Amino acid sequence: MTDGAPRTLHIHEAILSRNTQLAEDNRATFRARGILAANMLSSPGSGKTALLERTLADLSGELTSAVIVGDLATDNDARRLAGHGAKVVQIATGDICHLDAKMVARALPDVDSPDLRLLFIENVGNLVCPAAYDLGEALRVVLLSVTEGEDKPAKYPTLFKSADIALITKIDLAEATGFDRAAAHEAISRIAPQARILELSSRSGQGMSEWYDLLRARIPSVGSAGAETPTGQGRQL
Ligand code: MG
Ligand code: ZN
Repeated sequence: MTDGAPRTLHIHEAILSRNTQLAEDNRATFRARGILAANMLSSPGSGKTALLERTLADLSGELTSAVIVGDLATDNDARRLAGHGAKVVQIATGDICHLDAKMVARALPDVDSPDLRLLFIENVGNLVCPAAYDLGEALRVVLLSVTEGEDKPAKYPTLFKSADIALITKIDLAEATGFDRAAAHEAISRIAPQARILELSSRSGQGMSEWYDLLRARIPSVGSAGAETPTGQGRQL
């Protein structure tokens, strides 16, 4: 299928409604435990793993973090993420092109600890169906790298509509790739006016401190049930 071609997603409503129940269970657990769960979504190669490597390393002395990473096959990303001061578990999804709430609930004990504060869920690289699966996250983070087209948000509106944060990654390559920053900001804002937009580079470090501030600000206090406002206004599909 070519990018932008007309497409229709047919997803069983029963599966989605079951997933939503399990996601609510996850969300209640995270909230009660004071854990910020961030669902990280993008195309393959947008820099999710590189961003998480740097984030884990930079925050390791400050906050206990963990990662659940999903890919169709291999544990390459989990191996890259290991050794940065966080527990990491890989979910090999086989032929399933997204993570769901049940997979997250099953994987959590492998990376859990009493003082866990930041749980990153690196979703399968895919801009389509992961949008439909609530994992119980409090923060939905969508990455768009400067090596992709500025019109990705217009082509994949469902995912961008549900974003709390839109990260423009690999910003150190913007000039070399002729990236049109204004067009990208405009495209994101038009589809996802609620999303906070941040430009960053895991390589140069640009924007990373702002990213960490956004995370710190969203960590719930332990037992703050009901205090969090629902996020991802476009999530009801
Ligand atoms: Mg990855
Ligand atoms: Zn899928």
